[in-house]
Amino acid sequence: MTARLIDGKAAAAALREQVALAAASFTQRIGRKPGLAPVLVGEDPASAVYVRSKKKATAEAGMESFGHDLPASTSEAEILELVAKLNADDRVDGILVQLPLPVHADAARGIDTIAPEKDVDGFHALNAGRLATGLEALVPCTPLGCLKLLKAELGDLTGLDAVVIGRSNIVGKPMAALLLGGSATVTIAHSRTRDLPQVVRRADIVVAAVGRPEMVRGDWLKPGATVIDVGINRVPTEDGKGRLVGDVAFAEAFEVAGAITPVPGGVGPMTIACLLRNTVVAAHRREGLADPEDL
Ligand code: NAP
Repeated sequence: MTARLIDGKAAAAALREQVALAAASFTQRIGRKPGLAPVLVGEDPASAVYVRSKKKATAEAGMESFGHDLPASTSEAEILELVAKLNADDRVDGILVQLPLPVHADAARGIDTIAPEKDVDGFHALNAGRLATGLEALVPCTPLGCLKLLKAELGDLTGLDAVVIGRSNIVGKPMAALLLGGSATVTIAHSRTRDLPQVVRRADIVVAAVGRPEMVRGDWLKPGATVIDVGINRVPTEDGKGRLVGDVAFAEAFEVAGAITPVPGGVGPMTIACLLRNTVVAAHRREGLADPEDL
């Protein structure tokens, strides 16, 4: 048996089209576009690429981008001051502070300063708490994208055994909360988990968010399992360019799984699409409108 490929690019393109429709209808009703303010501090090349593509995607969805690119020398107080200004700016529906921040600035303080209703990354403790207690929240984009892919593939998740490998606040924990919300039976594994292959072997759903190239092997998987590979790892190649691989040994897993996301082209494209989704949803909630349907 070989797995079905879960096409994250196609799913993301479809979601972005829906977001653009919702943004157009919002603009017509409210008289302004939904607005996203990405804050980039410093010159980290990967962060600069992410922020550039977020700005481009925002414009393509018919939304306004209020980007702020600050030098690495910007003090924490100046970053917090900018966030406070964006909190008070009515044109801004979503604020994201691109992580990592330079060492002298505390990321947790930066995130805690964002008004929770504008926290489109879903990292604020209030949104994390609301998600954990089953209340309406802005949910972190990567796990939200994973959930959408899983629902499109499997439909109802009720009673399925799900194993999430990784317990970070931005992927693993919110992923587990979303799966629990979908009535899956959820196990969260991490670096201290005993006999991880055996834990993974019982899962109908495996979400790998570890940051270790190809750690999850084919023979760890239950035949027919649905595998969501969140990992993005660059490994060296002979030509010196390197190549991206996930946290799952794709070729092996492809022979055993029922369905699997590729890297690249799986979870990655859904993350940005979900950021746009969160921004248009935040805009609706801030203006007292019902959430756009099917987003
Ligand atoms: P992170 O904060 O470093 O967390 C990694 C998690 O993996 C930790 O909970 C850690 O356990 C666990 N872990 C490490 N080694 C392990 C092992 N040998 N066995 C089992 N668990 C182990 O990483 P993250 O931010 O969640 O990101 C995870 C991966 O997803 C990275 O490759 C990242 O690049 C990628 N990512 C992709 C997207 C996307 O859009 N596709 C978005 C975000 C992240 P402990 O807690 O015990 O240390």
